[in-house]
Amino acid sequence: MSSPIPFLDLKAINQRHRDALLQACERVIDSGWYVLGGEVSAFEAAFAQYCETPHCVGVANGLDALTLILLADGIGPGDEVLVPSNTYIATWLAVSAVGATPVPVEPDPLTYNIDPVAAAAAITSRTKAILAVHLYGQPADMQALAALAQAHGLRLYEDAAQGHGARCHGRRAGSLSDAAGFSFYPGKNLGALGDGGAVVTRDAALADRVRVLANYGSHIKYHNLVRGVNSRLDTLQAALLMTKLPSLDADNAHRHTVAQRYLDGLAACPLQLPHTPAWAESVWHVFVVGAPQRDALAAALKAADIGSLIHYPIPPHLQPAYADLGIPAGALPIAERMAQQVLSLPMGPTLSLQEVDRVIAVIRQHFGVGA
Ligand SMILES: *Cc1c(COP(=O)(O)O)cnc(C)c1O
Repeated sequence: MSSPIPFLDLKAINQRHRDALLQACERVIDSGWYVLGGEVSAFEAAFAQYCETPHCVGVANGLDALTLILLADGIGPGDEVLVPSNTYIATWLAVSAVGATPVPVEPDPLTYNIDPVAAAAAITSRTKAILAVHLYGQPADMQALAALAQAHGLRLYEDAAQGHGARCHGRRAGSLSDAAGFSFYPGKNLGALGDGGAVVTRDAALADRVRVLANYGSHIKYHNLVRGVNSRLDTLQAALLMTKLPSLDADNAHRHTVAQRYLDGLAACPLQLPHTPAWAESVWHVFVVGAPQRDALAAALKAADIGSLIHYPIPPHLQPAYADLGIPAGALPIAERMAQQVLSLPMGPTLSLQEVDRVIAVIRQHFGVGA
């Protein structure tokens, strides 16, 4: 009997760094400095360099990173922000958090990323910005979106919570727009051992506004310029992230090897496999297949002790949380079809190629595809 294959083995991922993580904890404990400080600024500098952007501001989580970008740019009530119809709901929630309206745009059905042509059609006199998502680790078509934003005087942002290290025309996610929000939620490609997030930008003034807003509206303790919030990257998490950052590229390279093996091994199966344009370098946050009989495939994997997940089972516009927008079922057919058909297979930096082969064998057998 072979052992179960989990969807994502977070414990194994962090066990690889156990000694270094413990040393980082000791360093923070012994420093006596537990909020902001040198650990946070060192990680900010390292992550800015990684993203090939001049500025990084650590914040409490990915949702706050996106919210603070919009807030710092003065986007608010009456404004519209274009968002993908198929994304994790946090993308929409950031827009709602500042009082603006998320306007859903359907994806390209091949890449699952926001369709620039559909985005152009959704622009109104109230549109202020486009918030693109590098969904599943694959960069959105930022070149087309940048041209669109420029033509209409819009701001362009990235939700890079799934895209640490991805490249679009050779340039890193985070450096492809006015500002980008990252998440360091434990399951992301660069994950903390708790919550964490960051804003990266080439705009020094925007970075400064985010930094002030995230720290009670204050540059100098007890001097409050604006009504801010408390959304700082935790010092301990910054130290842990610094320990893990040097492994991110190798981890992403392993994900790429896994993805290539899935693509080869599943080519003969009746599945929609991920499509990566030539200019895009995905970091394979998840490996998503499309299957008309998705639930039967998930059940076959479960019967073989193989984990899988659905990203995402209900699109934001059909969530009770967004009932007030009044977008009816059927209005966003591509997002709705994805919710019915997508399935994420095991993927991660510690997944062995033997495990990948077992997943492939179970799926091929499920579809009656010979070895
Ligand atoms: C994880 C995620 C977020 C939110 O990040 P948190 O750190 O959990 O707040 C936002 N957008 C996308 C696309 C995500 O996957």
